[in-house]
Amino acid sequence: MSTTNPYLQLDQKIVGDIYTSTEPMTLLTTLCDDFGSRFGGTEGAALAADLIEEKFAAYGLANVHKDAYDYDGWYRAAATLEVLSPIAREVPCISLPYCPAAAVEGHLVFVDEGVEKDFEKEKDRLPDSIVISRSGGIHRMEKYDRAILYDAKGFIFQNHYPGYGDVTGTIGWNHEAVIPGIGLSYENGEFLHRLSRQGEPVRVRIKTTDEYRRTTAWNIVGEIPGKTQPEEIIVIGCHYDGHDISQGANDPLSGMVVVTEMARALSAYAGDRLARTVRFIAWSNEEVGLFGAYHDAEQLGENPTQVRFTWNLDSAGSPGGRKGIQLHRLPDFEPFIENAAEEMGQDILVGQGISCYSDHYPYFLKGIPTGSITTVGRPPGRGFGHTAFDTVDKTDAMSIREAAALGARVVLRQLNAESLPLQLRGTEEVERMLKEDSGLEQHRLREAVYEKLGKENLRQYCDAVRT
Ligand SMILES: [Zn+2]
Repeated sequence: MSTTNPYLQLDQKIVGDIYTSTEPMTLLTTLCDDFGSRFGGTEGAALAADLIEEKFAAYGLANVHKDAYDYDGWYRAAATLEVLSPIAREVPCISLPYCPAAAVEGHLVFVDEGVEKDFEKEKDRLPDSIVISRSGGIHRMEKYDRAILYDAKGFIFQNHYPGYGDVTGTIGWNHEAVIPGIGLSYENGEFLHRLSRQGEPVRVRIKTTDEYRRTTAWNIVGEIPGKTQPEEIIVIGCHYDGHDISQGANDPLSGMVVVTEMARALSAYAGDRLARTVRFIAWSNEEVGLFGAYHDAEQLGENPTQVRFTWNLDSAGSPGGRKGIQLHRLPDFEPFIENAAEEMGQDILVGQGISCYSDHYPYFLKGIPTGSITTVGRPPGRGFGHTAFDTVDKTDAMSIREAAALGARVVLRQLNAESLPLQLRGTEEVERMLKEDSGLEQHRLREAVYEKLGKENLRQYCDAVRT
């Protein structure tokens, strides 16, 4: 069985160019080695925004601009964890982003991976305690929100990977981080475990001194206007901020440079023959709560029918497996991908599932169909992600090329398809998914936290998220 490929010559140019291009690794290296973490509020974030804007313009995109917004930026300051009894000892730690300045004391309660049954097992000991949970399994925010719901006073997040140092990740997610949270290395967490196994309760004190300042951030946008249906838009984006303790080379930049590479190749070879408009976007402040994506999605209005699809390429070029596509619960779109795969003469692995934890989410909330390019076959968990060890030397040029070649060719077909089997989801359908979808548990936990504390009592950090 052979399917003719109407894009064969274009595919050859795009794939040939991407597989011989050194552009993405050069850009990634500059973004990491020269600009550092690019965490919101750092000078590196501003320099990265300038450079990405420059690249979008150099690749021939139209309407290239920075879209600025203000938010309450979080600035790391000293954090301490003291063991008070049965011995006195200071244990090295870092605050988790959006931790408030606070001082709390309590006995340690271990809740393993922090799923519901782990908390339920310890529920009598949890009020006024300091909870300690390992990374891995479910997302950090679910563990943290359960700690609030079970009346803990403080939250300790232990890296479950030996040798990767302190682990980080936001605990604010646009509302005031209710109880202080700190990150620990695997080894320091294991020390606390050993201490607690000696039988006596372990009492600890957490002190954090983090600060907030009004801060400006930028999404960077550029387009290739469609020739025949310019009012229909496909969005392709990735965030460019890393965590402040990290270069964020794989998360997010291995995906950011897939976006710039797709922009470069599509503009060079197909710029004058795309039916729909493709909008490339570098989102800011994903790591602290998707602020940039919320800001962009909010501007689309209440019924954003013009945006037909949003691709989130967060970390898309990470090494460690084949590239595939994750559709966010869009079974009707699978035949389109299968047809594209036949034309391209390659298998494309397609999964179905959704989470709240990256930049597609604000678009999903608007009803827009969303998907990601992902690495299939990687072991679960972040590995060195969200630690100081996510550095340029961990990236892989071939993984970035594979993701860019796959993305550019699939999106080329999506931009020129006669019709797209995709519709905006209605509000009721989005609500149903928020209530029922196994991937959206965090939404339900957050609702429970708001109910417990009163959302109006929580300081909000980014206007765009306050809906
Ligand atoms: Zn990311």
